[in-house]
Amino acid sequence: MSISKVNIKNLNIAVLGKGPSLNNFIELPDVDKYVIINNFEDCIEQNFNLKQKLTITPTVHIPNRNIISVQGMISNNLYKDLNINFVVQPYIDEMKCTHGGGCHCNLYTYEYFKPSNSIQIPTKQLDQRHKEYMFKSGDLDGHPGNKYPFYYPSAGLAAIAYACVEEKPKNIYLVGFDFNEGGYASGEKWTAPSSELLGQKEMLDKLIKLCPDTHFHLYTLAEFPYEHKNLTYYSITKQDKPMIKKQKLAVVLGGWHYPYLYYKQLKDQIVPKGWEIDFYVVSHRDPELPIVFEEKQSLLKDRSKGLLQSMDENLYNRIITKQELSELGFIYNEEQASIGDLYQLNQWVQRHYKGQYDKVLFSHDDNYMLTDQLFVDILEHKAQIFLNVEENKIEEIDTKFDWKHLSSGILENTTTPRTSFTFLDKEFLDKLSDDLEKITTEGVDLDRSGETETLYDLEGEQVSTKALYSWNAPSRNFANWIKSNNYSDKSVRLSPVYRVTKYFIEGERGFMWTKRDETRIINNLSKYYDLS
Ligand SMILES: [Zn+2]
Repeated sequence: MSISKVNIKNLNIAVLGKGPSLNNFIELPDVDKYVIINNFEDCIEQNFNLKQKLTITPTVHIPNRNIISVQGMISNNLYKDLNINFVVQPYIDEMKCTHGGGCHCNLYTYEYFKPSNSIQIPTKQLDQRHKEYMFKSGDLDGHPGNKYPFYYPSAGLAAIAYACVEEKPKNIYLVGFDFNEGGYASGEKWTAPSSELLGQKEMLDKLIKLCPDTHFHLYTLAEFPYEHKNLTYYSITKQDKPMIKKQKLAVVLGGWHYPYLYYKQLKDQIVPKGWEIDFYVVSHRDPELPIVFEEKQSLLKDRSKGLLQSMDENLYNRIITKQELSELGFIYNEEQASIGDLYQLNQWVQRHYKGQYDKVLFSHDDNYMLTDQLFVDILEHKAQIFLNVEENKIEEIDTKFDWKHLSSGILENTTTPRTSFTFLDKEFLDKLSDDLEKITTEGVDLDRSGETETLYDLEGEQVSTKALYSWNAPSRNFANWIKSNNYSDKSVRLSPVYRVTKYFIEGERGFMWTKRDETRIINNLSKYYDLS
């Protein structure tokens, strides 16, 4: 099976070299696929933006035979953490290895590269077409490649050749190719013989000429004296360190129940490397109104004892004040409390969102955190995720999947995502924001402007959910929007069960415990945690 998708139209690829211009990586546009070469681990570990792209985008690794080319990639866990789904050996049949020492040929079977027992990645050699592009033995006086009948002057040039000859992209972006005129981006010492420098520019010139249907975009610090119709040369400014762009997350809380604990739990989440987080509260009632505290106490006092009950007690023994919100760093805005739930997200979008966030989390303020790893696992693509495109069909997918919308758990007999905990990607929210007012108001006939009490009509010990029925319309509108904008297969869930994820429990009308769902929630929790 070949992963090289030669039939994809308009494929854009970036081939990354190790030269100092790699520090300008963020100047490249996003692409469909990356190609990296040799021991790339230092280049990856020093550049958060680069690592993030290689985590979510299909990546081809092209290592030469020296064991050094894969050792650090293996010990840094990069074949696991990155989306490396293909390994290309930069050789043709005529370039046999003598296994003279220091090679890693033993890690390959015919079809797979197996750096460990648990990882196998499809692999292939360069195909025979490359013969007509390669240098022949003796072409470059003194080049170590002369030991082979055919050769490319370096693994980097072999990678470019692989990308343009075998993948046939519409655009190919080259960065980190400075023809070894300035060392490496990572500061690594230059150890290869200087004769390897021979023929590199000539070979690139030749490849550009022989691949007229691909447009080459060259970001380099070196002179490249050749002109082609299908070449754009970008002159860039030398950077001593990688240019880094911090990613931004907005956490938006729908302010209504105001348990001090949940606000604190969110602030105590570990911030992943390379991210900045802003926190907001869309307030629908003043937390300091006596009713906010009092309405919970009467419901808590006659309950039985148990895990969920004690969580509720911990949530509501202290209501957060506006002063405390401000001290914890929340930006607090009072908005008209006409409709709850997603309408609060709409109010935040109208007031604050100008496309400045890479991800936005909208959360009700009645959840209970179970760990401090929420942002790390979600933003670094370590969390288990699921698709629920068809009712009652739950499919676990690769953690590295580049989702555009993520919500909490799954409910039987519906694919409508719960909205009490919702991550939105910038691409998704940019599209959604114009439709959000309509989505969050259409079909709603309950306006609670000015009302400050939670509707707690009891059926026995169970709080009825009937009173706010009309507020479910926005989630259905939202689900329809996802469908009609083709995001169904990019809308993932954090858990295969109802109201519980590894990271938090979602409340209902403020509470973790409800009479109706107690057993179910405890069962779901025990899938993640030992409750004994
Ligand atoms: Zn070998």
